Amino acid sequence: MNIWQFGDVRVDRVLEFEQPLLGWQQLFPAATTAAVDRQRAYLEPCWMEPGTGKLVMSFHSFLIRSRGLNILVDTCGGNDKPRPNKSRYHMQQWPYLERLRAAGVAPEEIDFVLCTHLHVDHVGWNTRLVNGRWVPTFPQAKYVFARTEWDYWREHYKTEAFKDDPFYIDSVLPVIDAGQAQFVDSNFAFNDEVALVPTPGHTPGHVCVNIRSKGTECVMTGDMMHHALQVGEPEWSSCFCVDPKQSALSRRGLFERYAGTPTVILPAHFATPTAGTIERAGSTWRYRFQGT
Ligand SMILES: [Zn+2]
Repeated sequence: MNIWQFGDVRVDRVLEFEQPLLGWQQLFPAATTAAVDRQRAYLEPCWMEPGTGKLVMSFHSFLIRSRGLNILVDTCGGNDKPRPNKSRYHMQQWPYLERLRAAGVAPEEIDFVLCTHLHVDHVGWNTRLVNGRWVPTFPQAKYVFARTEWDYWREHYKTEAFKDDPFYIDSVLPVIDAGQAQFVDSNFAFNDEVALVPTPGHTPGHVCVNIRSKGTECVMTGDMMHHALQVGEPEWSSCFCVDPKQSALSRRGLFERYAGTPTVILPAHFATPTAGTIERAGSTWRYRFQGT
């Protein structure tokens, strides 16, 4: 399922790609075989590849339609981007914009783009290549960035770590240069239905998106968690987390708040059906994928 309705708000998942990708040992440095085995039965084969232990991951955007606004959350890896060190994003040709149109919205109809954080797989479609130049893909949109996130990355991008992977040059700076960036507080609200929630850890200015309409609630959790394994093991931060301890605290906060409630969780990398709810499971929690 790729379409959800929360009261008056419609959400579509716009897929870039989904596949078994990283081994759990690779993504979660703290993971152990015994702990993975405890969750294996419910995760195989849809969310963990049998035999290899590779985690099935999705890369998608969420298109929110709320009170006449079209808001696109996270913009995946993008097309034509040179990423020689990350083959999964390198010079791709995904039919992403066709899928966005199939969801009923053309690029020029996007009002806001929101990147939950400024990692390579969340900024790609911010721009596209036109006549050899990177230009904003969504010409009418304001691109919303949490101010604390940009304050961190604007300096960090210049460090040695990004020398060979300068995605900010093709996917972030052209938006700022075009005057389309809007730097906001981490609790910014688009309207009375859609608002940001600060959830630092994965990155310093990481935000979630909270949707509330007519008694229903949904939280888009970005990269607060990358895989359902982490719902059972909230201490397992990913190898991509800037502050692993804070990332675990943010996750625990999310689970404690929403466990046992009907609030729908929409993470940035959970494979189909993506959506689910948080259940209590003994002293920890478990992700219940919708329809299971
Ligand atoms: Zn990500």
